Amino acid sequence: MRVLVTGGAGFLGSHLCDALISRGDVVWCADDLSTSGPGNLAHLLDDPRFHFVRGDISECLPVPGPVDAVAHLASPASPPDYHSRPLHTLAAGSRGTENALRLADRHGARFVLASTSEVYGDPLVHPQPEDDWGHVNPIGPRSVYDEAKRYAEALTMAFRRSEGTDTGIVRIFNTYGPRMRPHDGRVVSSFIRQALRDETLTVFGDGSQTRSFCYVDDLVRGLLAMLDADEPGPVNLGNPDERTVDELAHLVIEVTGTASGIRRLPLPVDDPTRRCPVVERARARLGWSPEVTLREGLGHTVEWFRTLPAEERATATG
Ligand code: UDP
Repeated sequence: MRVLVTGGAGFLGSHLCDALISRGDVVWCADDLSTSGPGNLAHLLDDPRFHFVRGDISECLPVPGPVDAVAHLASPASPPDYHSRPLHTLAAGSRGTENALRLADRHGARFVLASTSEVYGDPLVHPQPEDDWGHVNPIGPRSVYDEAKRYAEALTMAFRRSEGTDTGIVRIFNTYGPRMRPHDGRVVSSFIRQALRDETLTVFGDGSQTRSFCYVDDLVRGLLAMLDADEPGPVNLGNPDERTVDELAHLVIEVTGTASGIRRLPLPVDDPTRRCPVVERARARLGWSPEVTLREGLGHTVEWFRTLPAEERATATG
């Protein structure tokens, strides 16, 4: 297959590019490098089946030759990133998604949208099945991401219904693993970075809010299954092992062996209280379920963080 991966230099995107290349596909990776660096792709640049296109899918992207599939991942995805780039985030979800859909449609390619558990907002139904319509504040600071992804889902379904485009939507829950940026401000990367420097771990709020953390290798298997299926979705991809943020902090302290404690900081506005996917649809329709335990995945992630130069792990904002 010839696959275009938008956002292919990012955390998830680069792992997806790796998986596609290792199964023999030809990959065009498009990224504007606004929230990622080329470092994630350095090992692929000499591969004749790998092509990197630097550009913003929301503007004009140099279009490669024919493609069989488009995986549309391009968007800022961590809260500090989308808070600092609100207009860029809305453009990625709207114009970026439309451009990617048009490209897929023109080539008769399969299109997979990387949507998000954020479409459920601060959920009223728990755990979250795909038929939950969500509970999103449309004007809060998170709305630039949540509503952009909700619009992207609507656009994807409109292309499917009116143009007959072969589309699929996955809703990705919190994912972690090697290549997370140490300063992306997400909880797993922040806790590991802090623990490895024996700093106190910054728990926002009282730490009772929950998330469900999926290891990146599991997530990428799910993305590949969706690319290969003709399933429209939406399909949740995530690990239903739900944890409080406090539990995560203590697990990171244990796995890293740090003597650090925790300190509490204010809870961000509209921070969802709980989040856990129902993954029965992914099991039934894609034959997918997560396999890596949180402890095991954190172990791999900590090992990778230890390989980073000390200055990359050093304290900085975020
Ligand atoms: N969080 C935290 N300390 C941090 C960063 C995040 O306690 O240093 C909390 C955050 O408030 C949220 C959870 O951890 O409740 C997950 O945050 P993250 O930004 O990783 O993802 P999202 O909110 O998008 O699920």
